[in-house]
Amino acid sequence: MELSAVKTVAPSLATEPALAPAEEDEKVRVRIAPSPTGPLHIGTARTALFNWLFARQQGGKFILRIEDTDKERSEKQYEQMIFDGLSWLGFDWDEGPTLNTDGTIGPDKGAFGPYRQSERTAIYRKYIQELLEKGEAYYCYCTKEDIEAQRQAMLEAGLPPRYSGHCRNLTPPPDRKPEVIRFKIPEIKVEFTDMIHGKASFDAALLGDQVIAKDLDTPLYNFAVVVDDALMRITHVIRGDDHFSNTPKQILVQRALGFPTPQYAHLPLILNPDRSKMSKRFSDVALANYRERGYLPDAIVNFLGLLGWHPKDDHEIFDRAFAVANFDIARVQKTGAIFNEEKLDWLNREHMKAMPIGELAALVKPFFAKAGIETAAAEVLDDGNGSMFERAVALQLARAKTLAEIAESARFLFVMPSYEPKLLCWKDSAPNDAQDALRDAQQALTELDQAGFSSREALMNALAPATDARGRGAVLWPLRVSLSGQSASPDPMEIMQVLGKTESLRRIASAIAALGSMG
Ligand code: GLU
Repeated sequence: MELSAVKTVAPSLATEPALAPAEEDEKVRVRIAPSPTGPLHIGTARTALFNWLFARQQGGKFILRIEDTDKERSEKQYEQMIFDGLSWLGFDWDEGPTLNTDGTIGPDKGAFGPYRQSERTAIYRKYIQELLEKGEAYYCYCTKEDIEAQRQAMLEAGLPPRYSGHCRNLTPPPDRKPEVIRFKIPEIKVEFTDMIHGKASFDAALLGDQVIAKDLDTPLYNFAVVVDDALMRITHVIRGDDHFSNTPKQILVQRALGFPTPQYAHLPLILNPDRSKMSKRFSDVALANYRERGYLPDAIVNFLGLLGWHPKDDHEIFDRAFAVANFDIARVQKTGAIFNEEKLDWLNREHMKAMPIGELAALVKPFFAKAGIETAAAEVLDDGNGSMFERAVALQLARAKTLAEIAESARFLFVMPSYEPKLLCWKDSAPNDAQDALRDAQQALTELDQAGFSSREALMNALAPATDARGRGAVLWPLRVSLSGQSASPDPMEIMQVLGKTESLRRIASAIAALGSMG
């Protein structure tokens, strides 16, 4: 294979024979190669993270390749989800199809494109032809029924089933169309050293000749991936353990085409808490669902980082920069990584708490809109103590695991819920008692100035004469219900600190009126 000395522009299909070398200093080139056949899976996001970390840490390149050879199952909407998901998580890619600023898909960037397999058919065709000419691959005429009959015969003979090699040396039958193109698997041991699992050895004789394409223009994954990894100068293939058994097949195709073998690292499978393979039954498998449910991208990145790896000192809460600096692929665990949503909830809370409140409030805003809660007025309402909107977010942050939960639990601060006036009565006390207690509170709070509403202490002091005279519960219960309309909520001082003087007094007055109408 001739190597051209300089990398110039993207190889044109007609003149593509040489493997364009990567730039001298590009010691590391890794890729994420998702198939757009469904919503972006959380496992793919984890693989993307580990590749991205490795590239950033090693000063290498992170490449995005869309593996859309499966024409029936690949869809543009899923491709869009790949772009949206990866960019939401902050995994910027150096080469691959780009995203325009308006979120639509843009042109490719990088010298080794095209980066969509569907646009690389002519390249694959050339290499399939090369294998056919060299006698490393052949047309196979066996039908599905033939294959099934061979399988049965082998099982009956007590042999592990594999393709029999029937068409290996066949003179092409003139009256029949070939079914597929097969690659001749030599009867040897294939060995490689995985960066995570160590030495691996496979007996290729067990594989049987593998289908690499349906026809010249329809290559299958195990073939296209080899051509792409070589032409894109991929140095390290970091992917899920589910591809471990594909590796020897890919190495054999590499050898037949004279391609170098990259380093492999197979990441542990992601498991349900009961150690079964991660499934919808236990948790969402689509990344987009977590976004929709109000998880922060920073928390997801942190969580994904812990799926199979952890920093040396067991430091659990970290950001991207920390992960880039500390990630060590050799320390990725070999055994399955348990997907624990409670851990994600905890991390999400920690990341939310660590954010400046203004930034957090901006992220929660769309969730209020989704829950049908109007916040525009509260965003501008600032009585010198930050906007009412930000105070509401800060208050509910203590009770919520996600952005969506903050919005949902803060609803009563923006829209007074309707409630039964009876709820205002403390224990078995009469409506009159509640009304009197609220009147006392109303008077004391009317006398308190606006600034006093930003201080818990000032509010408690203002209410002290009433609570001393009537008892805490007798005053604070009806007061809390008048402000929240709920039997469970933050305490009245906290609510008043968010609502401010005018709105607090308005709610108290309407509770007094409601009690009056109880008769
Ligand atoms: N398209 C394959 C997948 O989504 C990529 C596997 C690989 O990284 O080689 O699983």
